[in-house]
Amino acid sequence: MDGTVDITPIMPKVEINLCKAKAPVSVPLVGSKIITAESSPNFVRHVVFDVGGTPLENKLLAGQSFGIVPPGTDADGKPHKLRLYSIASPSRGENGAGRLVSTTVKRVLEEYGEYHRLYLGVASNFLCDLKLGDMVQMTGPAGKRFLLPAEPDRHNYVFFATGTGIAPFRAMVLDLLAQGVANARIHLIVGVPYRTDHLYHDLFTGPARELPGFRYRTVVSREDRRMDGFKHYVHHEISDNDELRETLSQPNTLIYVCGIKNMEFSIYRELLKAGLDDYITLRHAPEDKPPLALSNEEFARHVRPGPRMFLEVY
Ligand SMILES: Cc1cc2nc3c(=O)[nH]c(=O)nc-3n(C[C@H](O)[C@H](O)[C@H](O)COP(=O)(O)OP(=O)(O)OC[C@H]3O[C@@H](n4cnc5c(N)ncnc54)[C@H](O)[C@@H]3O)c2cc1C
Repeated sequence: MDGTVDITPIMPKVEINLCKAKAPVSVPLVGSKIITAESSPNFVRHVVFDVGGTPLENKLLAGQSFGIVPPGTDADGKPHKLRLYSIASPSRGENGAGRLVSTTVKRVLEEYGEYHRLYLGVASNFLCDLKLGDMVQMTGPAGKRFLLPAEPDRHNYVFFATGTGIAPFRAMVLDLLAQGVANARIHLIVGVPYRTDHLYHDLFTGPARELPGFRYRTVVSREDRRMDGFKHYVHHEISDNDELRETLSQPNTLIYVCGIKNMEFSIYRELLKAGLDDYITLRHAPEDKPPLALSNEEFARHVRPGPRMFLEVY
């Protein structure tokens, strides 16, 4: 510890559900760009909508999500349910005027069943197929905890992202840049399956470096190997990266985790191993088992992120 004052983050009060699923707003697509490399087996797009003139204008903040209600009906003939997408644009919007909001969508494509039929995810393929000017039904904002604190310069940040979990961190890094945050250490640790799947790499290797404390680390799980020959995942950085551990030991550091469901359990374990257990809260855990021996199911039941940790996994 370096004597930094222990501060619990003061989170901003935000408005949610201004447009609900029963009364979504109709907004046009104004931008769509593939952001995975041509040789990638995955298709991820950066899509932009103009929410100008709707109740969502200037209301979709970094860390929040919007909902998309896909057209049509499901197999039971019921209208499709809305799907949430993390906001990738800064809180003032892509254009600085609160109108242009973006997200990062991965097409869901899967084989299923005995005859290995192809399943195309409803909302993700709807969004990726849109042409400029096409309208979508949007709801939101959703989420009131996974946000930057009200006084961003009083904290350090450790952002763990896998896949499209990078979306809110693009938004947050752009907000921190816009606010000229100078004192924060900001570690962005990104996991992708293949090198071809890096998203927004140019931002994080370029303009983001204007943030004096910015550190960007990428982990390619299906290509990188650790010293012991095992695959490399984002949570391994906690034991492997001394500078990161030093930042984590500061009492004003905040951890944000976004991406693949269950990634949080490996991060909890590494925090426990490093003696950084004050990021998590144990509730009614079995007394005869040390926390590190808990299974994922037990973690899900007994472990919650503490006041300095924020989770968005899906
Ligand atoms: C807070 C939050 C933020 C999110 N942010 C993002 C984001 O930024 N980017 C992003 O890409 N996603 C994000 N998601 C996920 C997103 O909401 C959707 O779940 C995702 O895009 C898949 O939706 P879909 O309609 O394309 O797939 P769905 O049609 O809902 O299918 C989902 C899965 O269900 C199974 N399935 C469903 N029906 C069938 C069937 N008939 N046959 C076979 N299999 C079937 C398949 O395994 C498939 O993978 C977020 C989710 C949450 C909760």
